[in-house]
Amino acid sequence: MKDWEKNIRKVVPYTPGEQPKKANIIKLNTNENPYPPSKGVYEEWKNLSIDKLRLYPDPTIGKLTSAIAEFHNISNDEVFVGVGSDDVLAMCFMTFFNSEKPILFPDITYSFYDVWANMLKIKYKQIPLDDNFEIVVDDYSVENGGIIFPNPNAPTGALLPLESVEKIIQNNQDVIVIVDEAYIDFGGVSALELIHKYDNLLVVQTFSKSRSMAGARIGYAMGNKVLIKYLNDVKYSFNSYTLNTMAIELGIKAIEDREYFDETRNKIIKTREWTKAKLKDLGFSFKDSKSNFIFAKHESKKAKDIFEALKEAGIYVRYFSKPERINNYLRITIGTDDEMEKLISFLQQYLEK
Ligand SMILES: *Cc1c(COP(=O)(O)O)cnc(C)c1O
Repeated sequence: MKDWEKNIRKVVPYTPGEQPKKANIIKLNTNENPYPPSKGVYEEWKNLSIDKLRLYPDPTIGKLTSAIAEFHNISNDEVFVGVGSDDVLAMCFMTFFNSEKPILFPDITYSFYDVWANMLKIKYKQIPLDDNFEIVVDDYSVENGGIIFPNPNAPTGALLPLESVEKIIQNNQDVIVIVDEAYIDFGGVSALELIHKYDNLLVVQTFSKSRSMAGARIGYAMGNKVLIKYLNDVKYSFNSYTLNTMAIELGIKAIEDREYFDETRNKIIKTREWTKAKLKDLGFSFKDSKSNFIFAKHESKKAKDIFEALKEAGIYVRYFSKPERINNYLRITIGTDDEMEKLISFLQQYLEK
């Protein structure tokens, strides 16, 4: 090792899902929305003035923050916007997880949490899901420096009922509790209504899944205005101009179109339920997903073999070799009806062999 290498911050990075360059594939591996963004986004894109790029964007992201606040019927100072919820969550880790005590999150969960904790040298403890892949509320009643979990959980898709979410918050009022609601719009009940009851709660959502805007990179946190102020202080100490001019304008159009949002998420829910029935017939078992993906295991065929056969056929799903508890599962994103029909008919043929 060279001398200069000794003091380098060495991290094991998060591995995002593959973004294949090939055309004509069926992409069910990164939980993207199969439907295009709302029409208003297209209109706005055509009208965007490139001259504006000469100027820095609004550092407060004011107009988009108001549009999000209006959608959720809360006030502007209760919203913090960032470059996707990954950026928002990273800012939250920096801002709120600064204790000597370990933060808590599930052992099977979004695999970015331990990456941020390691990078920022935050102590953490992973709380095992039970044998049925459920969060055990009482296991979060130990001393800790903060709590984070997704609801629905990823990659299991399991939804924790609002009463259980509230219990976790209730039992932990001396630390910040973050509920990562990346998939809440596909059939869950948001904890948002609790932000006025608990001043230590942050609810994080994203435009990437239910609003078909993963490429625009827009995410946000909602909570007590004191928490939002602390988040902004850290943001302005790191990078004042986070969202770019285009993302701000396009994001406003995306969140304003409530009708399209409801139409597309309902379509995905319907397709998900159809896919569940078909997968079950084929010998798959899975948790009752309330997200835009299904985390499934086959009764006889190995997940890794199915994953590779699907990939060969141009159908990309996600397979996690680690941790061991989940290495026989596939995470299948819900696509269009046509895409799911193709997936099912491939599996029918493949599993007959
Ligand atoms: C997709 C996802 C995110 C991040 O989404 P962004 O695209 O960064 O907004 C955060 N948390 C979970 C659990 C996710 O699945």
